[in-house]
Amino acid sequence: MGSCEPCPECGAPMDPLDPRSCDELFHALLALDHSRREPWGPLHGVSVSCFLLQHPHRLPADGGAMARALLRAYLRGGLDEVDRLVGQARRGNSHRVRGTPSRVVRDAAVPHCDASRPRFSVTIQDVAVDGTFPASEFTQRVEAWAAAAVDAWRRGA
Ligand SMILES: [Zn+2]
Repeated sequence: MGSCEPCPECGAPMDPLDPRSCDELFHALLALDHSRREPWGPLHGVSVSCFLLQHPHRLPADGGAMARALLRAYLRGGLDEVDRLVGQARRGNSHRVRGTPSRVVRDAAVPHCDASRPRFSVTIQDVAVDGTFPASEFTQRVEAWAAAAVDAWRRGA
């Protein structure tokens, strides 16, 4: 106790006085998403993709390809572009890709935590602010989060 341990995956610093883990924050965010209220509900897919890409042990079997495609679509054209992409994916592989990436598979083929893993300029701790994911400027913070996740993967590729 007393030491400040960063998250082993995304590298977010944890406040020793208030050590909320990324997982706890993610659950708080999912609860807001599922309330379907603005601004969290519509950004559910974007938020989940950001979190998965920054916590690779949770990535589904596709290794994050869908999450990266979704974030790139969001950064390019906002939620309209995301809707288009998700619609295409549903039609294209209805038997493989289903909505939420909740079927998390521990896939040994994905390069997991190693010394060269990317660190991120924006993490869930930044988006959460005080742990409550305040609505004010939430959209802007998620956009920065998405850009940080995509950018790190591009550099690390
Ligand atoms: Zn983390």
